[in-house]
Amino acid sequence: ASLLQVSRTTAINAYRRLEEQGLIHTKVGSGTYVATLSSSTAPTAQTVPWSQLFTPCLNTQSSSIIRELVASAAADDTLSLAAGMPDPELYPLHDFNRLFGLQASRLNGADLGHIPTEGYTPLRQAVTTMLAAKGYAGKPENTMIVSGSQQGLYLVTKIFLEPGDYVIVESPTYLGAVQMFSAANARLLSLPSAAGLPLDLLEDYLIRYRPKLFYVMPTFQNPNGRVMPLEERRELLKLAAKHRLVIVEDDPYGELYYDKKPPLSLKALDPYGGVIALGTFSKMLFPGLRTGWVVAPETVINRFALKKQYIDLHSSNLSQCLLYDYLSAGLLQEHLAVVRAEYKKRRDFFAGALERYCSPLLNFYTPSGGFYFWCALNKGMLTRQLLHEATHTGVSFVPGEAFYADAAGSRELRLCFVTQPPARLLEAVKRLGKALQTVAAN
Ligand code: PMP
Repeated sequence: ASLLQVSRTTAINAYRRLEEQGLIHTKVGSGTYVATLSSSTAPTAQTVPWSQLFTPCLNTQSSSIIRELVASAAADDTLSLAAGMPDPELYPLHDFNRLFGLQASRLNGADLGHIPTEGYTPLRQAVTTMLAAKGYAGKPENTMIVSGSQQGLYLVTKIFLEPGDYVIVESPTYLGAVQMFSAANARLLSLPSAAGLPLDLLEDYLIRYRPKLFYVMPTFQNPNGRVMPLEERRELLKLAAKHRLVIVEDDPYGELYYDKKPPLSLKALDPYGGVIALGTFSKMLFPGLRTGWVVAPETVINRFALKKQYIDLHSSNLSQCLLYDYLSAGLLQEHLAVVRAEYKKRRDFFAGALERYCSPLLNFYTPSGGFYFWCALNKGMLTRQLLHEATHTGVSFVPGEAFYADAAGSRELRLCFVTQPPARLLEAVKRLGKALQTVAAN
């Protein structure tokens, strides 16, 4: 009789599917058994076999990290240096409460019906004006309002990427982007950017793989905090123009600078119209607004709008009207001055605390803007071990592995220094130091 050979992975996957469907169950250390269908678990007319109905879902190693981080920020007495959120104590609540009140008293039918998919027209204009001050040349037709830059990233993925397409990402890069591109079955090419963009390698990728996109954060990169110097921006754009490369520039942190103002964005310098810019109010104001923008050539905006119609028709009128009122009262610049001053203090305080309680076991890069310290552990220590100890000492952070498309980052970690006041930051760093000592001693 001929034997059919099946690989081990195929067999494991088959077992997994059967288990998901409730047809078998596994007892650790004992074996796998056919499930007995009791009257409570047997499929009946009322029980829908959900897991058989779902479309295939790609589970990356970091698939649910973002959701867990947002949840863990609110949990027990653990101090979180993980989630990348502004400090709620610094939200401009007074102004928003007042504008909310005004808005409520003025609401009329026109404000509450459907509005264009591309956004509430006065807000599109206001955002275009705001960006013009940063050197963007576009008209309101080039700006589209989206429900957070995460939605902008989703739209980019949907209109450009088919399974198998190549996308270049920095290494490390934003975890949400890795997840998004991977879920579209794109193939990721990692470009190490921490010590400067390797333009030779980039050109090599462009010639060999003809990638659809390069996703990049030139200003206060998440997670490593780097700012791409002006000259490097120009070189990158020159190369991109030569190869007609589409660049997706994600810039949530550009206004949150604590030393000198960063250079002009790639979009503002764009000589060939190949840059798509993503922006958001989530880090400057607060994430609950769910309001961001995409700036691109009109033909791209039109495609975005077609796609966005399927998702939500348009972003919420209420957030958009409120933001319009806020921007047109000139309040954003005042608020930015306040948070820049406060976060600068926290940045310096945090660097001092890390130096005192975590050096030399932990090496860190002090950012000149944004939300994060990017850190590396000494040789011989692994972030995984530190995370384990940190759950005991009561502090959380994002392990470096989450930010890589390949299996790197096992000694790195990201710490967010803006969400809490100095006293809590100090306690968090002390707890981290304690966890570090324990790992080093073992
Ligand atoms: N891009 C980057 C680089 C981010 O850090 C974030 C937030 N963590 C986002 C996009 C998404 O932000 P939002 O959808 O809230 O605008």
